[in-house]
Amino acid sequence: MIVLITGASRGIGYSMAKSMLLNPAVEKLVLTSRSVDSAPRDLLAHERVSWLSLDLMDKASVDAFLKELNEKGLWPDVLVNNAGLTQDALFIRLQWEAWQDAMMANLNGPFMITQACFKHMLRKKWGRVINISSVVSRIGNVGQANYVAAKSAMEGLTRALALEGARRNVTVNAIAPGFVDTDMTKGLKDADRQAIMQRIPMDRMGTPDEIAQAVGFIMGAGYMTGQTLHINGGMYLSA
Ligand code: NAP
Repeated sequence: MIVLITGASRGIGYSMAKSMLLNPAVEKLVLTSRSVDSAPRDLLAHERVSWLSLDLMDKASVDAFLKELNEKGLWPDVLVNNAGLTQDALFIRLQWEAWQDAMMANLNGPFMITQACFKHMLRKKWGRVINISSVVSRIGNVGQANYVAAKSAMEGLTRALALEGARRNVTVNAIAPGFVDTDMTKGLKDADRQAIMQRIPMDRMGTPDEIAQAVGFIMGAGYMTGQTLHINGGMYLSA
C-alpha cells in the first residue's frame, strides 16, 4: 500500500509519518514539505520513504508534484491532506491576499491533489482520503474567518466526495483536531492560550501522536465514510 501525507516535516504530519512506518502494510510512504531541506533526517533516510517538494500556495508546484507522482508510479491508496496554515486577522482587517492564501493552502491545493489521486482510487476500487480539518470549523474562531471558511469547505467536500467514492470502496473522512501542541499553536498569545484552555474539559492541549492515531483507525474503518472525527479533549461538549 502507498500512503501519501502532505506536510510531514513537523507537527501532526510528522507524527502520522512515524506511526505509518510501524505499519508493515505500508510499502511506500510519500511525504512532502515545501522544501526537502526541512525533511527530518530520520524520515528522509528511511528506505520506505519518498520525500517530494510541494507548495500548496503555488499551482505550478502542485502540478509539478502531481507529475512527479505519476512519473514515479506513486499514486497513493491512502491520501492524508494534512498540510495547512493559518493567516489570522480580525475580519474587518482581513486582506484579500490572506483570504486567498488560506483558501489556496487549506482548500484549493488539497482539491487539486485529491482530484488527481481520487481517479486512481476509483480505478483500483479501493482508497482512503483523510482530510485534516479543525475544531474551529464547528465552533468558529475570532480572527480566523479565512481559515474557518476553508476548513468548513473542506468538510463539505469530504461529504460530497464520500458519496462519489462509496460504491467503489473509496472512503472520504475528515479528522478535526482541537488545539494541538505544534508550531501552529506556539505563536498564541498567553491570554488567547488561557482562554482556549478554559474551553477544554481535559485541561490540556492534544499531542500530535493523539491525532496521528486516528489515521490508522480510519484506514481500517471500511464502513465509515463522509464523517468528521473530532479529537479535542471534549471541547464544546459543555458549551
Ligand atoms: P505545523 O506544525 O505548522 O506543520 C505544518 C506542515 O505543513 C509542515 O510540514 C509544513 O512544511 C507544511 N506546510 C506549511 N505550509 C505549506 C504550504 N504552503 N504548502 C505545503 N506544505 C506546507 O502544523 P500542524 O499543527 O501540524 O497542522 C497540521 C494540520 O492540522 C493542518 O492542516 C492544521 O490546519 C490542522 N490543525 C492543527 C491544529 C493545531 O492546533 N496544531 C488544530 C486543528 C487543525 P514546511 O513548513 O516544512 O514546508
